[in-house]
Amino acid sequence: MTEARTPDEVKAEVLEVAQELYRKGLVEGTSGNVSGRMPGGETVCITPSSVAYLPMTIDDLVVIDLDGEVVDGERSPSSEKGLHLACYQAFPEVGGVIHSHPVYATMFALAREPVPAVIEEFVVFVGGDVPCAEYATTGTDAVGEELVKHLADRSAALIANHGMCSIGATAERALHTALVVERSAQIVWGARLLGKVHDIPDEVNTNFAGVYRWMRENGM
Ligand SMILES: [Zn+2]
Repeated sequence: MTEARTPDEVKAEVLEVAQELYRKGLVEGTSGNVSGRMPGGETVCITPSSVAYLPMTIDDLVVIDLDGEVVDGERSPSSEKGLHLACYQAFPEVGGVIHSHPVYATMFALAREPVPAVIEEFVVFVGGDVPCAEYATTGTDAVGEELVKHLADRSAALIANHGMCSIGATAERALHTALVVERSAQIVWGARLLGKVHDIPDEVNTNFAGVYRWMRENGM
């Protein structure tokens, strides 16, 4: 759905989503980063390195090509741009990528265990359990290489000992996924304190996974 939008609309969405990510508490300080694929598909608008979210303006955003070279903007792109580019290169249908540090999802990333798909309709938005990618040092290309191994049929994956990556047709959809996963991680964490967490019947999640695939293939 990125084709119908103008470059200014994509930039405005990246800024709005980045500020909402901060307001929702999914990042702290200047950590995390948001990007959106620009019309034409060959460049990406991404948040800059080390700029606070709330005072950030459109002019702080940076446009890079799929090799990471800056084509527009005064700032340096996020140091974690590699994971964004890996997602855009691997999945042409992806139009938005978010890297965040949500508290509960990151607890699962430390335990290196998936956030299970045990809440009704979770799979519609996420595709299935949220897997944890192999550990890779932040800022290296290996982070993206490990992540894309898990994102062909998922809209989110955990980054071991670090945080989360979510993807979508737009940055706004990637934000929605990040919020759904974080909320589920919090609920699962609490439910486990209460006792056994029961699974949803496989058949139900299999059907929801079909809905997820259809939405992804159709740019939703
Ligand atoms: Zn990070």
